[in-house]
Amino acid sequence: MRAALRAQLGWARRALRGAAVLGHAPGPLCWSCGAALPGTDGSPRFCPGCQALQPPAPRPDLFRLMNCDRSFRIDERQLQQRFRSLQRAVHPDRFGQRPPKEQFYSEQHSSLINKAYQTLLNPLSRGLYLLELSGVEPVQETDCDADSAFLMEIMEINEKIAEHKNEDSLEEIETLIKVKQEELTKEVAAAFERGFGNFLCNNQHNWILQPLHRHKLEPFPSF
Ligand SMILES: [Zn+2]
Repeated sequence: MRAALRAQLGWARRALRGAAVLGHAPGPLCWSCGAALPGTDGSPRFCPGCQALQPPAPRPDLFRLMNCDRSFRIDERQLQQRFRSLQRAVHPDRFGQRPPKEQFYSEQHSSLINKAYQTLLNPLSRGLYLLELSGVEPVQETDCDADSAFLMEIMEINEKIAEHKNEDSLEEIETLIKVKQEELTKEVAAAFERGFGNFLCNNQHNWILQPLHRHKLEPFPSF
């Protein structure tokens, strides 16, 4: 009787252990040696056992990858530092002597890091990406949003470019455009801070990014 009970208890314990193991979702394993991989902060992951570079996640969060807060305001210097250190870690030049699979992953990581850097550095693509992460439909770009005052500004800049006489006046125009771009980017940053957290719809999307979309109409002289 007691032996039967003990056997039953033993079975129950084993079943519980089994359930505990099953209930725990197995983490990713190294493609090279099969070791369990630790969690990641978004950086490219290396196997702690054999040091093999692991493939990038299928849809990585670019803000997380670049160690930035999910915000329109970013620290450009910090972004650039992160870009350099990530590129150093996964650059294909470092993987020349590694198996082809790892070389391929290093190329994938490297181009992903380039894409993340460019996307977050450029204010317009950063804004669009933020909206995409919030599930907002991409806006249809139309020129009809541009107001007449802005079109006047463009015409004036175009005239200045056409009439420029020397390098100094070109520099002056470049400064003018830069100042305008900074002004518009600030407008967008403020719009993001006002508009986020409440609700987002396509109209608001238009409204938030309008200054930057308009900015794209600005002529950039080919120096
Ligand atoms: Zn491994």
